[in-house]
Amino acid sequence: MFLIAGVQPKTRRVDDNPQRCPVCGLAQAYTTRVDHYLSLFFIPLIRVRQGEPFLMCEGCQRPVDNSRAPVQEVPLSGSSSVCVACKREFDSSFNYCPHCGQRA
Ligand SMILES: [Zn+2]
Ligand SMILES: [Zn+2]
Repeated sequence: MFLIAGVQPKTRRVDDNPQRCPVCGLAQAYTTRVDHYLSLFFIPLIRVRQGEPFLMCEGCQRPVDNSRAPVQEVPLSGSSSVCVACKREFDSSFNYCPHCGQRA
């Protein structure tokens, strides 16, 4: 008889609290870990390697890259100015009119 033995990866969900996926916007990203098991007849027996936990989105079916945080938008002052030249509105944080270049 011969044994069918080998090391198989096994995906485990570490945390049951879903986090919001920045890609699809749904709270379907779970902290997941891929452990490697020594298996015999496809039954995992011994954990030979514990993987690093990462965020896996169930919606996108792919890992969420946390290092790529969404680009921070420059906050606008909230108040607007009206250009003296073209009479169009623009945010008062601008030093120049974004429409025609007139100095504010
Ligand atoms: Zn997603
Ligand atoms: Zn203008």
